Amino acid sequence: MKLLSGTIKLRVRGEPVEIALTIPQSPVHPQALLPALQKMTDAFVAHAVGQSESQGKSITCKEGCWACCRQLVPVSEAEARYLAELVAAMPEPRRSALQQRFRETIEILKHADLLEPLRDPARPGSRTLHALGMAFFELNISCPFLENHRCSIHAQRPLACREYLVTSPAQNCDQPTAESVQKLPMPASVFGALITLSKTPGTKTAPFVPLVLALEWASQHPDRNTPLPGPEILKRIIENLSGKQLNC
Ligand code: SF4
Repeated sequence: MKLLSGTIKLRVRGEPVEIALTIPQSPVHPQALLPALQKMTDAFVAHAVGQSESQGKSITCKEGCWACCRQLVPVSEAEARYLAELVAAMPEPRRSALQQRFRETIEILKHADLLEPLRDPARPGSRTLHALGMAFFELNISCPFLENHRCSIHAQRPLACREYLVTSPAQNCDQPTAESVQKLPMPASVFGALITLSKTPGTKTAPFVPLVLALEWASQHPDRNTPLPGPEILKRIIENLSGKQLNC
């Protein structure tokens, strides 16, 4: 695959941010750009952390703290496929162990009557996303990728995991409420921009997949979208981030 390397220059909250990226030049599906989008997310997060610290608010997330890994984590459709490919490429017995953890999680959700609502959170009559998230959190299910209280795919973790940092006391995350948990405000969400990329024009809701259903969803939804050149996908992501059309 032919790759293209370069530096994108953006203004984030009025400040210049330069990010060196390598992306495929040929037509690909969006998941092929995830390493670059992860890097972009990390750059935005670093900027947000710097701004927060300059205002005296430090990040309280610590290695080994895993409260947020019990939350309902959303991933984009591209990331669901990326995670499925990641697991499929793992050596045995790790691959089977992870697949088994995903299956066990589905069983717990089924017994709690949460599986169908999570398979289609946008269906009419479904609970609100907040209600689904709270019901999921009460089940106390750890993310299948969590091992020994650490993320076992830290370098490849989803964009939503990267964007989720808090400045409130870490213990508040055990019983999270809108008041007790202060999330780090992000200047721009690459996750949101990627979700928007797969939104059907004219529809209200942007599709997301609960991380715990990512393998199941990917196996049931082969990618039939037309591959696009890597630079075109990146352009659309930046347009979604900025809300402006780029003439290039
Ligand atoms: S992918 Fe990693 S960081 Fe994200 S919820 Fe799972 S264990 Fe936590």
